[in-house]
Amino acid sequence: MTSVRRTEVYRELEDRLRARRGELRQAIQSGLQAMGEERLARDIGDVGDDGLASWIQDLQEVDLQRDTEELRDIEQALERIHAGTYGYCVDCGDEVAVARLRAYPTAKRCLECQELHERRGGARA
Ligand SMILES: [Zn+2]
Repeated sequence: MTSVRRTEVYRELEDRLRARRGELRQAIQSGLQAMGEERLARDIGDVGDDGLASWIQDLQEVDLQRDTEELRDIEQALERIHAGTYGYCVDCGDEVAVARLRAYPTAKRCLECQELHERRGGARA
């Protein structure tokens, strides 16, 4: 695969990352809003079943945390695209396979380094 082809792929991935970033920002915003409203409702004493309410809130917090982490990964990937370091493994410096980038546009490592990283107990992606 030539470098010209990679540039085209990166442009396509950048579009996907930007679209996903927009979705996540919206999801996080409405998630925060919903949590705020729920807290307010509970403060007022509107929520009858405290157990259920806190369970729902826990779920929302898990969602929010996951969305926030994904958003952070996307921001970092977009920064790497602009810095020209996108598509290179942060560990070994080799090019990350295009198929891997298409599957995980936020991938920081090549497959070999990622597997090594996970075996050492590191996080995914
Ligand atoms: Zn590597």
